[in-house]
Amino acid sequence: MLNPLITAKRILQAAAQATDSSALVRLIVERIRTTLDVDVCSLYVMNEDGELVLTATQGLAQEAIGQIRMTPGQGLVGTIAKRQHPLNLDHADKHPAFRYFKETGEEHYQGFLGVPMIHLGHTLGVLVVQVRETRRFTEEEEAFLITMAAHLAGSLGGNIKKSVRPIDPNQNQQLPVTRFQGIKGAPGIEIAPAWVVKDDIRLDDIAERSGSGEAVERRRIAEAVAETREELDSGLDQLGNSANDTLNSLLDVYKLLLDSPELSTAIEAQIATGVSASTALKHAFQQQIDVFEAMADPYLKARAEDLRVLAIRIYRRLQDDLNERIDPEQPVILVGREINISHFTRIDRSKLAGIVSLEGSALSHTAVLANALGIPAVVGIGDEDLTSVNGSEIILDGYRGQVIAHAPASLVAEFERMKRQQKALQADLSHLKKLPAESKDGTTVQLHTNTGLLADITPGLERGAEGVGLYRSEIPFMVHNNFPTEEEQLRIYQGVLEAYAPKPVTMRTLDIGGDKALPYFPIQEQNPFLGWRGIRFTLDYRNILLDQIRAMLLANLNTQNLKLMIPMLSREDELLQFHAIVDEAVSQLNEEGHAVAKPPVGIMVEVPAVLWLLPRLRDNIDFVSIGSNDLTQYLLAVDRNNPRVASLYSHLHSAVLDALQGLVRECRRLNLPVSICGEMASDPAAVILLLGMGIRTLSLSAFHLPRIKWLIRHLHLNDCVALLDKSRDCSTEAERREMLNAHIRSLGLGALVQ
Ligand code: PEP
Ligand code: MG
Repeated sequence: MLNPLITAKRILQAAAQATDSSALVRLIVERIRTTLDVDVCSLYVMNEDGELVLTATQGLAQEAIGQIRMTPGQGLVGTIAKRQHPLNLDHADKHPAFRYFKETGEEHYQGFLGVPMIHLGHTLGVLVVQVRETRRFTEEEEAFLITMAAHLAGSLGGNIKKSVRPIDPNQNQQLPVTRFQGIKGAPGIEIAPAWVVKDDIRLDDIAERSGSGEAVERRRIAEAVAETREELDSGLDQLGNSANDTLNSLLDVYKLLLDSPELSTAIEAQIATGVSASTALKHAFQQQIDVFEAMADPYLKARAEDLRVLAIRIYRRLQDDLNERIDPEQPVILVGREINISHFTRIDRSKLAGIVSLEGSALSHTAVLANALGIPAVVGIGDEDLTSVNGSEIILDGYRGQVIAHAPASLVAEFERMKRQQKALQADLSHLKKLPAESKDGTTVQLHTNTGLLADITPGLERGAEGVGLYRSEIPFMVHNNFPTEEEQLRIYQGVLEAYAPKPVTMRTLDIGGDKALPYFPIQEQNPFLGWRGIRFTLDYRNILLDQIRAMLLANLNTQNLKLMIPMLSREDELLQFHAIVDEAVSQLNEEGHAVAKPPVGIMVEVPAVLWLLPRLRDNIDFVSIGSNDLTQYLLAVDRNNPRVASLYSHLHSAVLDALQGLVRECRRLNLPVSICGEMASDPAAVILLLGMGIRTLSLSAFHLPRIKWLIRHLHLNDCVALLDKSRDCSTEAERREMLNAHIRSLGLGALVQ
């Protein structure tokens, strides 16, 4: 009896050893052929142009790989892909759709079974087995192959696409075009030679050694840490003035980590076990990294990278192994397993064309710094071997998160054209920096920024943010190993309030729970998004909220630009309790001799219940801010982090738009200022609708700010209102988006919706 689950598991286990994607697909077809004991097993993968390409085969001629291509509907394989249904035939060549490809030598095989591989509704490819005899495959065999295909499609997903070798018929190429799909790190297109950094050291690579006595090892680590702190303190100036603040803010995060008492205690404890300073460093950091990596929240996950970078910095000091400068003759794209801030500082800015980092996420500091410096970056490509591209020209597409090696001239020319277009756009945007976000008809929109990391402050100010619309205060709680003290919080909040003063800064109180866990306070729940989140948690830990509010009020003493905002509010009594705590904080501090005043208090609209509660809340709130990320999630009952339902998560859903329109009307009736701070505010299509509804304050990440300003300056409010009306007639979100994008293109702003 064949067990598809066990076989799939074995194949996937073996696949983990595959060195690249072609080895992976070869392995899949080999295993299936032996398990089913058939003559042929082949895999056809859908390429980016929608063609099914023979990508791996055991049994057919190997020369046919990459040559045999069909569109959906063409041939047996195309028919299976189009109908998304299996074909089980005893005489393959008698089927009307049969097409003969002489390159394959498949005339010898009659029995044919093909099944589609579907992932999230899309056809990834077709898996085919064939035998010489004239026979139909048994039901058991068919069921096995269907289940197998489903498991493989689910587990490998889009990775399987990488195994296709496209051929450019116009080119007599030596090497096949290779595309690497990663995550968009920083926007922009670059075409330049790759410079693969060879000096990457992983924590894992640090050899395990016993120490030369506790006192010696303790002194060694203390010296290395002190030197690292000095290096961080001195800052680095290779990047030019515009980047210095950003860099220093990032270095501040490292300093914060470096000074964390938990890390030094962990290192000491390791040294006490008799190991060397390097081994102690490795283990102590690894423990912390594991904690961050286990977190679901991508922002927190990304902090593991900071720890890794810091550990390696200290390790290099321990080894006296300081980095050499990277000194290419012409601008290069730096490629490495983990390109980090130290790489940025070792190369002249004029020689740094782009960044490709196999590790990292969109929220990693590599991405933050690349954005601030305007250097295109692709991160999170995964376990690929890129050493072979060293020295050859590669295309880096930061808009799509793609890297292309060995591209034919026609493709390079196309990217050159896009690059010129984008450069023209950037020049235009920097010219807008000091201009207001004012529509063609003279309506002014306030553009604020979202932040939470010290590193985000400078880019926000540099891009003309008129205040902070959302300060995610949970971030300082996450870089600690304990709840931070009032004094620690005070210093951090002061930094933000002072940087923006006199512009307003809206600080949201601690929003943990859901996918945001604190390493030192794990919350286990069946349904965390409906559980102990935001204000629900902090009202149960009144002392934590009181400390936080006291720190915020004290930080505001000199600047008076603080506004307080409550996350995840769903009840009137929560608001009253919050006020009681703020009042108590004010009176405590007044008694202690600090002349603090109660700042404006507002709420996030994230839980749909608030849509009906506003009249009851009105007297106790000064403003509302729409948290469209959570509001969309809760209105549509779609988890914002679950890739399986990602296609259902859309802030352009008609119910979301109706809810927002109703909310804006209600706020107008209640004379209540309303703004939006969810991702919707950085989506150009959505911004048209938000303006049409009457929203005049948007808060978004610093990177998107100039683009949204550019859009607003081209819009007429009347058109926004008309488009909002028209959007009601669209039956799907895709149709709605296309209609709005068509308008953006008609304004000559196609670059915003590429
Ligand atoms: C939101 O929910 O829209 C929001 C801005 O908050 P967060 O993304 O931090 O949950
Ligand atoms: Mg939220």
